[in-house]
Amino acid sequence: MPGVFKLTRRRIVFGAIGAVLVLVPAVGGWAMRPPASAGAVPSVTPSPAATFPGTVGPSTSPYPIAVTSGMISATPLPPPIGWKLSDVPVFGPPPPPEPIVLPPGDEVPYLSRVPVTQPVAFLTIDDGLLKNPEVPKLFAAAKIPVTLFLTTDTIQDDIPFFDNLRKYGAVIESHTISHPELAGRSDNFQRRQICEGTDRLAKWYGRRPVLFRPPFGDKDHTTLRIAHECGLTAAFMWKETVHKGIVRYQEGHSVQPGDIILMHFRPAFVKDFLAALRAIHQAGLTPALLEDYVPDRLTTR
Ligand SMILES: [Zn+2]
Repeated sequence: MPGVFKLTRRRIVFGAIGAVLVLVPAVGGWAMRPPASAGAVPSVTPSPAATFPGTVGPSTSPYPIAVTSGMISATPLPPPIGWKLSDVPVFGPPPPPEPIVLPPGDEVPYLSRVPVTQPVAFLTIDDGLLKNPEVPKLFAAAKIPVTLFLTTDTIQDDIPFFDNLRKYGAVIESHTISHPELAGRSDNFQRRQICEGTDRLAKWYGRRPVLFRPPFGDKDHTTLRIAHECGLTAAFMWKETVHKGIVRYQEGHSVQPGDIILMHFRPAFVKDFLAALRAIHQAGLTPALLEDYVPDRLTTR
């Protein structure tokens, strides 16, 4: 019953944070919500900046405090550059997750929309090319869960950048070593890209990814079988892409419940992130965490 367990644990986290807020009114004016994964994704390296707000005096930061594994930290983030806090849509907390049932067999399912009845959508951000300093600020301001499908060759020059994003609700998942086209490649080639890429992320971040996105969204049966053999639970495509601030829809003109939205760590990150959030907001949906909807195979077998 992973969903029930997560929900219960989240309620405990909410309760603990509520108590802290009562005791520490210095948070001031900002509604605060923990990442949807708070507690579910252990942090291997507690941030050196992690301190209780009461010990750092009045915060001049406009951002809400971050929560990592139940720990409250004052976040010394500088002001936004090129965007305003008021540009960020405000969402309520996501509804209780509805974990899907994974199909039997030796391949992971390949999804571009999660079957949900709740009004949620899933924002995913890929590759990790540009380590834009606005990213943690946007995540801190938006307070929404996101899933990052990261390519290890692309992020190895700044591994801590992405570790830091986990404080704000980001969960790191697998997207190969060097971002090759996988479809049609040999068993050994795909195994190295999928399994070793996953293992590297596990070593760097202390949590082994459970989800996979094949580069370019291209896969074959070997891809899905090897992802399954490597302990991954599902692979994902998308229903919307965001590039240069424009949302492109594969179906219709609005985000549908359960849709997976794809964007990248590209030069227009700020525009893309805000456009994605606006599209979700305009559709009457709330960002939810993909990992809450895809059960861990270890707990379902
Ligand atoms: Zn990619």
